Amino acid sequence: MKKLVLKSGRERSLLNRHPWVFSGAVKDLPDSSNGEIVQIVTNHHDLLGYGFFSPNSQITCRVFEFTNDPIEITPDYWHQKLVNAQNLRRQLFNFSETNCYRLLHAEGDFFPGIIVDIYAHVAVVQVLVKGVEHIAGSVFSALNQMGFSHIYVKTKQTTQLLESVEQSSRWIGEAASMPLRVLEHGVQFYVDVEKGQKTGFFIDQRENRKTLGEWSKNKNVLNTFSYSGGFSLYALQAGAHLVHSVDSSKDAIAMGEANVALGAYKGKHESFVMDCFEFLKQAEPNFYDIIILDPPAFAKNARSVDNAARGYKNLNMLGIQKVKPGGLVFTYSCSQHIDKDLFRKIVFGAAADVKRNVRILKQLSQPEDHPINIYHPEGEYLKGLFLMVD
Ligand code: SAH
Repeated sequence: MKKLVLKSGRERSLLNRHPWVFSGAVKDLPDSSNGEIVQIVTNHHDLLGYGFFSPNSQITCRVFEFTNDPIEITPDYWHQKLVNAQNLRRQLFNFSETNCYRLLHAEGDFFPGIIVDIYAHVAVVQVLVKGVEHIAGSVFSALNQMGFSHIYVKTKQTTQLLESVEQSSRWIGEAASMPLRVLEHGVQFYVDVEKGQKTGFFIDQRENRKTLGEWSKNKNVLNTFSYSGGFSLYALQAGAHLVHSVDSSKDAIAMGEANVALGAYKGKHESFVMDCFEFLKQAEPNFYDIIILDPPAFAKNARSVDNAARGYKNLNMLGIQKVKPGGLVFTYSCSQHIDKDLFRKIVFGAAADVKRNVRILKQLSQPEDHPINIYHPEGEYLKGLFLMVD
């Protein structure tokens, strides 16, 4: 097997099991093509591990195995990674109440470059690097053996130093008909894995939606950036007085309406296809008891952090300004480049400018099926604050 040789002294992060090799740390590139599996070795040719080679990316290699002794990478090797991932999820869920969850969370499951989300009998596989494409057959057969009879693959590849992104999607074997009907904590949702955003649903907010539900009885709830109504449905199920869902996507709002109909909550819900900043500016002050702010990632990369911070601040100012005294704001950021300390500082700035008393009742994060590899803090991307505003 070909070897990627690190510069002298650049093995430190790998000794700490950080799974990314950046281009600046490489002394000798292997004579390998995009996606090949290579050995990562120190300047003295001591073996550190195995990874997927990505010559066109700033992350030249993604390590999936740390070992000082050579091993054989067989189809069974990949199968075992999926079995390990499934063993964790089996302990997390009662599948008769929750049958949509993340089965495989890339570095968080020691398998960089791939995400697998489950929607009932359908597995949606997101392929993020070429290396995963080469071994995908082993992943598909493991999923089939686990009972997922329909597999939908979304391939997203960054080529030429992040300049362009190629995307394609296809079914492996028989297609499942859309939309699917899934359950999350017993709440029913339609999900369309072909036309929906991400893999079809924002699974990562599951436990935060549950928390929201626990506070929603008899309340007026505003769900901004509602997508297909995830938070709205939990509020309605908990007996909210009324729920307003706002999203700029007509398709997302239509799916949300279908979800409201599925739960038979029609009289208590209204949706708006609108920009959330505009909606909040026009919203009547002190009308909502609860406001949810769950925008898409404003910071797509490290360069856009400053602009993103301004966006989050403006949004949080509006939410804190408009909520009723004694009301609650659930605010989130899913930007990997904005860590939880920075997010808290941004919300602090927003609260201070609005000049209201704000308390953090709970700090929120991503759920257990999105595990964070302790050596890979970049995997901690979802953060939230549950605020009470006096
Ligand atoms: N809270 C949702 C997920 C939100 S994803 C859930 O629990 O499922 C972010 C959503 O914001 C997307 O649906 C996207 O269409 C919407 N969006 C992005 N920019 C927007 C804007 N400026 N105004 C309104 N909606 C926006």
